[in-house]
Amino acid sequence: MKTHLRIGKLLGVPIGLNWGVLIVCVLLAFSLATISLPAAAPDHPSSAYWFAGVIGVIGFLVSLVGHELGHSYIADRNDVKVVEITLWLFGGVAKLEGDADNPGAEFRIAAAGPAMSFVMAGIFAGCFWFVDQLNGSRVLLSLLIWLSAINVVLAISNLLPAFPLDGGRMLRAILWRRSRRKIPATRMAALIGQILALALVAFSLACIAWWSVWSGVWILILAVFLLVAARSEWKASAAQPELLDRAVGGLGRKLPSPLACTATIAQLEQTLQRHPGAPLVPVVDSLGHVASLVMPDAVLRVPPAQRSVVPIESFVEPMWSLPRVHPTESVAEVLGRLGSGQSWRAVVTDGTTVHGVLCSEDMEQVLELATA
Ligand SMILES: [Zn+2]
Repeated sequence: MKTHLRIGKLLGVPIGLNWGVLIVCVLLAFSLATISLPAAAPDHPSSAYWFAGVIGVIGFLVSLVGHELGHSYIADRNDVKVVEITLWLFGGVAKLEGDADNPGAEFRIAAAGPAMSFVMAGIFAGCFWFVDQLNGSRVLLSLLIWLSAINVVLAISNLLPAFPLDGGRMLRAILWRRSRRKIPATRMAALIGQILALALVAFSLACIAWWSVWSGVWILILAVFLLVAARSEWKASAAQPELLDRAVGGLGRKLPSPLACTATIAQLEQTLQRHPGAPLVPVVDSLGHVASLVMPDAVLRVPPAQRSVVPIESFVEPMWSLPRVHPTESVAEVLGRLGSGQSWRAVVTDGTTVHGVLCSEDMEQVLELATA
């Protein structure tokens, strides 16, 4: 069964609706129309309360989408693709394709949602002031105050520094910037997330016992959800020392098909455009043997106007000018031999065939996962 309903696109981002949010909408409309609004603005016909209740639910959904669009707009500006925005039981989720690659972008993307909620709270408060000046309906005024307050609640609850909430992501970005290591930062933020979730569980139980059962149960569900999410992020960011024993054979980057030594810099540029991550391009000699290579930076060393006439020949280096590693060597062995914290390229070969090229930055990532 499909878990959600696609309702359309906004600013190019598909918006989906989880069935759970429909339950919340019905409950919300019911409580607005029968409890909150009649208490805040008595002596109106029940049709007025129900009409306002439905408008309130729409305003609530607009607030959720607005919050997520805040995230996705800033994500898009930081080159992180937004797959979809889904509204579900506890609010919205902007599904991003991967994480930001630097802590600054991560912080901005996370902060954009609550910032947007504060802006919307301000807009609803502004509407309240305007309608109040015109002596508008008390029901409408109560509704606008409620919408403004719900946006403040949305912003503040998301700012809790409990990963994976927005505030937790901001905390991770700060830790990440300090340590320059993302995985340990994620692990620390997820640990704090679990502690805060447990505190929230205790608070919800106290709430059930002494204050309001319904609010308590609602906070308890939220706290348990938060605990599960933080725990799975914490587990996923655990150290994996076994990665150091892994053979480097499968870790090398694949190389593009070789170029002839008579090829031009323009042809090299085209090859690199087709293979963006390629650390180098192999070059075949006149006998058809792959014995040399050309580095991507050769393109930048030739002015654009001359690229179609300059041959790659003058930039070609022998393949064996690079260190060689055997595919069965382990990550620990290679890092021990070639060093970590330095930039290098190594040819993965068993002596007869070239399996790929190992890049120091890829190895650093494995090391980070292993020692997080
Ligand atoms: Zn958010």
